[in-house]
Amino acid sequence: MTIYLVDVEQVIHTCPGEPEPHPYDIRRTLVDVIPGAPCRAPVTIRCGQVTTTIPCYRHEPAKRQCGACRVIVTERTIINHHPTGVAA
Ligand SMILES: [Zn+2]
Ligand SMILES: [Zn+2]
Repeated sequence: MTIYLVDVEQVIHTCPGEPEPHPYDIRRTLVDVIPGAPCRAPVTIRCGQVTTTIPCYRHEPAKRQCGACRVIVTERTIINHHPTGVAA
């Protein structure tokens, strides 16, 4: 599978509706992509006289892709910001 490594930066706050601190502004930055193995379930398509084989991720929706093509997102670091006036 392909792994997307992301850094997450989020602002934590409390508001009248939700007194528990919760993230309300989340930003993800893609920092690295680790390519997966070759496709284990290539799809053969025919276009006129030409037959070609493509990896299943270019043809199937995510839930039907093979394990090698599937993408997972890993959060490498999570940085929490607290607005001034709110204790960390
Ligand atoms: Zn809120
Ligand atoms: Zn595949």
